Amino acid sequence: MKYILVIDQGTTSTRTIIFNERAEVISLAQKEIEQLYPKPGWVYQDANEIWLSVLTTITEALYKKNIDPKEIDVIGITNQRETVVAWDKKTEKPLHEAIVWQSRQTQEHCDELKASGHETTIKEKTGLVIDPYFSATKISWLMSHINNIETFIQEKRLAFGTMDSFIMYKLTGQHVTDVSNASRTMLFNIHELKWDLSLLELFQIPTETLPEVKPSSSIFGYTKKHHFFGLEIPIGGVLGDQQAALFGHRAFSKGDIKNTYGTGCFMLMNTGSQVTYSQSGLLSTIAWQIGKQTTYALEGSVFIAGSAIQWLRDGLHTIKEAKETDQHAKSLESNEDVYFVPAFVGLGTPYWDSEARGAIFGLTRGTNEKHLSRAALESIAYQSYDVIEAMKKDSGIHMQSIFVDGGATSNTFLMQFQADILGLNVVKPDQQESTARGAAFMAGLTIGIYKDLQEIQDVELPKTSFQPMMTHAQRQYYIKGWEEAVQATRQYKRPYKNGLKE
Ligand code: ADP
Repeated sequence: MKYILVIDQGTTSTRTIIFNERAEVISLAQKEIEQLYPKPGWVYQDANEIWLSVLTTITEALYKKNIDPKEIDVIGITNQRETVVAWDKKTEKPLHEAIVWQSRQTQEHCDELKASGHETTIKEKTGLVIDPYFSATKISWLMSHINNIETFIQEKRLAFGTMDSFIMYKLTGQHVTDVSNASRTMLFNIHELKWDLSLLELFQIPTETLPEVKPSSSIFGYTKKHHFFGLEIPIGGVLGDQQAALFGHRAFSKGDIKNTYGTGCFMLMNTGSQVTYSQSGLLSTIAWQIGKQTTYALEGSVFIAGSAIQWLRDGLHTIKEAKETDQHAKSLESNEDVYFVPAFVGLGTPYWDSEARGAIFGLTRGTNEKHLSRAALESIAYQSYDVIEAMKKDSGIHMQSIFVDGGATSNTFLMQFQADILGLNVVKPDQQESTARGAAFMAGLTIGIYKDLQEIQDVELPKTSFQPMMTHAQRQYYIKGWEEAVQATRQYKRPYKNGLKE
């Protein structure tokens, strides 16, 4: 038997998943990661804790199912993107906490960059908009906050990297990353596939502190014997988590699209071998590189998706568990014109209105918790619709279906409603691990477990499809209601903060 071991280093947990060549999950081990909040809006993680969680989940996943480490042919890695680690190459020790993608600590630096007119060049080169999410300003911040950094630089001991890079340095001793992770740093030229020297200068980052960037399908290195049961196992596939999910759905063709329904929604569309720029605030990014072939993607996100359901549970207490919303929604014939715009943190694509706040419309004396559940689920579908419409407009591509994954896809009302609102087939693999599966496919491709993409496409993966059933007129009616609700929401702008005029 050939096994592929995948390390899935996510924001909230590290998982090790062992797949067979039919992409079936043979074993899985998971460990939560502590989130540290040193100041409001700042998010850190302990890179040592993450490294330990990698080692312990590898061991647990193997021993749990009595798998001999010799049976592991190749390792794949997928990871939380943009999060930055700084470490000492000599001791392999982190020099600071990892700065997590969510951390807003570099907001001021980003505002300065925007004010000094860097937006257009950065977008052209990296495909990204200036935001504290991306690694560049986090690395700059570390450059000015690590003690004795000059000594580390002089002695060529300073290393920066995203989580994949840190884990690989520990496992193999190689300072490497893949193009999909590099493309989230805001330092990588996505056309030339190189660190951009003028951006490194702008952010004052020495080139030699960054990893070597390799195609996603590469031999990144071999495990050091003392870290892997005396064995030198190749790391053969590395992808950022969203790109890995796209690959795991086998969204290999231009126009293929996936949506992950979690706390928020993450949408990626394969735009083929060309960079597609967005007029609606979507990001252009690298999906993956196999050999000389680079595949690009458009990326969009919905800030509040599953978290609207969490709000019903923890804020309003109208439900005890997320899954109750499914029955609630199905018990109603229609939404009875109740709309919920969950703009808790403003509105993203395509509105980009950071001052908008949430609203519920159409309340009557007959409105109850069922209407709220339904309106919350519908809002997830409408917001995804908005992002997908923007993708269609920016790319000129019209798709037939959309692949889905994430916690909220267990809600069959939501899946059916999404198919209806998009007018597309919604395809959900029965096995949930799309992200890890993507890294497994990539690693398997590199060492020849799969000969080519077609062989990956031929792997049988049971799935459930939801087909659009709504009439065109019904669909238009629902969408119009949403558009009106968004418009009304945006009109409500108050000059007050907490009831007090500023
Ligand atoms: P993340 O990776 O962002 O933590 P998950 O993919 O684990 O998220 O999904 C969890 C989210 O999905 C939560 O916000 C939860 O409210 C939502 N969720 C889970 N089950 C359901 C359900 N049956 N119906 C609607 N939402 C759900």
